[in-house]
Amino acid sequence: MEKRNLSERSSENQKKFKTTRRKKLKDPCIVCDEELYLDGEFTQRIGLLDETDEVTGWMCPHCKSEYDMDGKIVNLGGTSNISGEA
Ligand SMILES: [Zn+2]
Repeated sequence: MEKRNLSERSSENQKKFKTTRRKKLKDPCIVCDEELYLDGEFTQRIGLLDETDEVTGWMCPHCKSEYDMDGKIVNLGGTSNISGEA
């Protein structure tokens, strides 16, 4: 009897596990939750270069948030006007 109870519990856990994995996004943007995955070779990320053409990070094409190479957010898209271009 105890064994039956155990198996019921495990099947319950499996169901829960499935529902928590509903999202199909492979490579979502942390900020806007949009897909950044394009295919096995490319992503939708937009590379950011400095004056020496060195890649310093990337930008989400959906929300325009900027990330550094460590995946840290350096500029939240649309919310910050700090640089204030004249
Ligand atoms: Zn985004």
